[in-house]
Amino acid sequence: MFANRIERLKPSLVREILAAAQAPGVISFAGGLPAAETLFQPQLDQWQAPSHIWQYGPSEGEADLRELVAARAKAMGLDCRPEQVLILNGSQQGIDLVAKLWVDEGTRILCESPTYLAALQVFELFGAQFITGEQDAIGLTPAAIAENEARFAYLIPTFQNPTGACYGLPQRQVLAEALDAKGMPVFEDDPYRDLAFDGVAPAPLVSHLKSARWVYQGSFSKTLAPGLRLGYLIAHPDLIVPLTRLKQAADLHSNRLSQAIVAEVLRSGQLDEHVAHILPSYRAKRDAMHAALSQHLADRASWIKPAGGLFFWLHLHRQQDTLALMQQGLAQNLAVMPGVPFYPNGKGASALRLNFSHSSIGQIEEGVRRLAGLLR
Ligand code: PMP
Repeated sequence: MFANRIERLKPSLVREILAAAQAPGVISFAGGLPAAETLFQPQLDQWQAPSHIWQYGPSEGEADLRELVAARAKAMGLDCRPEQVLILNGSQQGIDLVAKLWVDEGTRILCESPTYLAALQVFELFGAQFITGEQDAIGLTPAAIAENEARFAYLIPTFQNPTGACYGLPQRQVLAEALDAKGMPVFEDDPYRDLAFDGVAPAPLVSHLKSARWVYQGSFSKTLAPGLRLGYLIAHPDLIVPLTRLKQAADLHSNRLSQAIVAEVLRSGQLDEHVAHILPSYRAKRDAMHAALSQHLADRASWIKPAGGLFFWLHLHRQQDTLALMQQGLAQNLAVMPGVPFYPNGKGASALRLNFSHSSIGQIEEGVRRLAGLLR
């Protein structure tokens, strides 16, 4: 009755946990959501939607938005032309398009372990196999690239989901060198870059490539609003034409109203203003979670204080069934994300992902206290 790939379609653990986390009274560290009070509200009082947006539009995206995105990419160190930009209905769509571009049954993808769970789900649906190679405390090592064969590498070098880790400049350079030497294409997923609490993030890893092909993607979900469903990819000139054709085949083009709003928001400086507005709040919440973890869990878990992004990744010292722990948490009105589904090959240390952007500081302190109680 169904295509073969439907057998690989698993129920989404995230959707289930997020649904449970919505219940009143639950402190949720589970999702990656902005707090209600820091959700973006565009100032569009004097603005009128241009009348052409109600018509079908170009698959590549609106010309003015592509120019604005290319200019921002240049400012972060990625030299590109607007013709290399493809506007997406959320960067999750970029993962789907890249899967269609590169993944056949059995295709090997080199990735970090752990990595973004919803990317694993998409790649798996297309029949991918995952290789993780040698990793260090931050992520992939050059040896992982040199010693493995894969069609491409999927990397989240900046404030990774789930670990929060960020590759430094020298690491980006040596990884780029290894990728060039191997001729291995790279897909860099970069939605968290602007949520940097301790100084600006280093330029994208793909900006250091000399010959390897690449796709880079970003999102307006974490800086503006996930409900806009707007992201973008920027691709090596050889890849932008097939990716645009795949986009056209998928949905013709991204929502023009969202594109017009975001173009206006970028032009008028509201994106930078909003990021400047939310950063102090997110930084304070990050610090509060670090303090609460240090007070209650230092003897039971270890973590790296993230310099950006939305998550702490907690390594539990004792081997634990984190799915059972999640269930026990829900019974006490606490939602945490178990680490297991973030491991490409299903195995890894006992870990939990904790989001700090959605809760208040009071909820963060209370939630960590409850978690410590559960672990005890
Ligand atoms: N990539 C990563 C690493 C993410 O964490 C997310 C959001 N959770 C996405 C892509 C997709 O984000 P969006 O579709 O909202 O742009």
